[in-house]
Amino acid sequence: MKVLKTYPEKCISCHVCETTCSSLYFKEDKAELSCIQIHDETNPPVMNVCNQCQACVAACPTCAITVNKQGVVMISRSLCIGCLMCVAVCPTDSMRTAFGKHNPFKCIACGACVKTCPADALAIVEE
Ligand code: SF4
Ligand code: SF4
Repeated sequence: MKVLKTYPEKCISCHVCETTCSSLYFKEDKAELSCIQIHDETNPPVMNVCNQCQACVAACPTCAITVNKQGVVMISRSLCIGCLMCVAVCPTDSMRTAFGKHNPFKCIACGACVKTCPADALAIVEE
């Protein structure tokens, strides 16, 4: 499956990945709207992002979460009712929800942040 891999030892905590992600999906530069989140209270930082484990798929009461051909977990906005069961069951706390957003959101391994990271701390890999 296609997954965004993180390399915390390389990360310089610049947060450019968060800007890239939130700007792409929400047209806003806000860390809380980024699918990847960098917690830099520690060194190396904690890099939190979906690992496509699929734990949320069975939890969704409306079958809004599916796995595409590349193994990436996708959310259908039209089927999602915003119950946030998927957020509750996510074992890595990487199914996101944010104030004012009806639907949860997550990394779909698009690779946009890989291109803008100045430290090669991110990569799209097959696992
Ligand atoms: S918030 Fe949406 S995607 Fe998540 S479990 Fe509920 S209906 Fe499914
Ligand atoms: S853009 Fe790269 S170096 Fe900067 S915070 Fe994100 S992962 Fe770390």
